[in-house]
Amino acid sequence: MLSLYRRHRATCKSRARRAKCSCPIWVQGMVHGEQAQKSLDLTNWEAANRLINQWEIHGMRKSVTLNEACDRWVADYVARNLKPESLKKYRQLSELLKLAWGDLQVSALKVDDVRAFRERWKLSPLTTVRRLESIRGFFNFCASSGWIEKNPAKSVKAPIVRQVPTLTSRIERGQRTGYRAPRSQRRWSLEGCDEDRFLTSCFLGVRLLRLLICCATF
Ligand SMILES: [Zn+2]
Repeated sequence: MLSLYRRHRATCKSRARRAKCSCPIWVQGMVHGEQAQKSLDLTNWEAANRLINQWEIHGMRKSVTLNEACDRWVADYVARNLKPESLKKYRQLSELLKLAWGDLQVSALKVDDVRAFRERWKLSPLTTVRRLESIRGFFNFCASSGWIEKNPAKSVKAPIVRQVPTLTSRIERGQRTGYRAPRSQRRWSLEGCDEDRFLTSCFLGVRLLRLLICCATF
């Protein structure tokens, strides 16, 4: 059985164990045969209660905060010698996760927490899809480390990305696949037409126009 109390700072005038001040919250008692008497590094009662609930279910050793999990995640990428630009991306995401849930236990997060987190992003659908994939990767890392049972980001749906093909992308796609449009389709199209043929067509057009003007004059 675990119990929470505040350990007041010298400057605090409160003395009550459950005071509403901002002094650190401590825990004491036994959980899964382990003696606990330590600071939780928390000042919020709700967060402290969520933490000790997780301890009572899983034990103290298995409980990892988002701050710790993010540090371990980034350290894993550093050890895998990722490119600096990829590392920068994961570090930035790690800071966002810490800002959102820092002191919470990873195992306390639910699907709806991830959904609410996603709703705060002001990103394009494509960037949202990529970030969601990275977050799923983060929670997969937590699951493979034994800190959570299920990935809470797995069932969070990604937005639908609608891409409008541009002329450039169509040309690039044609070049990449080696596709060449039939002659009838590419006659007046820059896509399948080489520059020389286009200029020749223009030149003949001008000649024809001049001939018609001459005929009309005489
Ligand atoms: Zn206090």
